[in-house]
Amino acid sequence: MSDEPARDAGYDDFLDAIAEGEPYYLECPEGHGSLPPRQVCPDCGASELSESELPEVGTIVAHNVVHVPTPRFLDDTPYATAIVDFGPVNVTGQVRGLDPQDVENGQDVTITIGETETDGDRLVVFEPV
Ligand SMILES: [Zn+2]
Repeated sequence: MSDEPARDAGYDDFLDAIAEGEPYYLECPEGHGSLPPRQVCPDCGASELSESELPEVGTIVAHNVVHVPTPRFLDDTPYATAIVDFGPVNVTGQVRGLDPQDVENGQDVTITIGETETDGDRLVVFEPV
């Protein structure tokens, strides 16, 4: 075991794409969506995955306000995490731009990149539309 965070190539590429304003997801020939890193479609096992543009706006389908964080998010609490439905894929991230207790399912959000207060790590951030 090492404390050195291994660069997760596929996931970091995903974060880079969001940061550049061109978020994408992986789509198989059957139209199943998934997020990087993937070599095969998790739904049907197809290995021909292409990159498709992620819809600009997603909808919060589940959320949770975190008061007792892992060490990585120690200085971020309280904060809200959410699962956001972008149609073909769901993306998990932190909601910013409103009080954690004001986050509601059904809210429309856009995706961007932020940094944790704790150590400056990049993370997926959702902001209200
Ligand atoms: Zn598939």
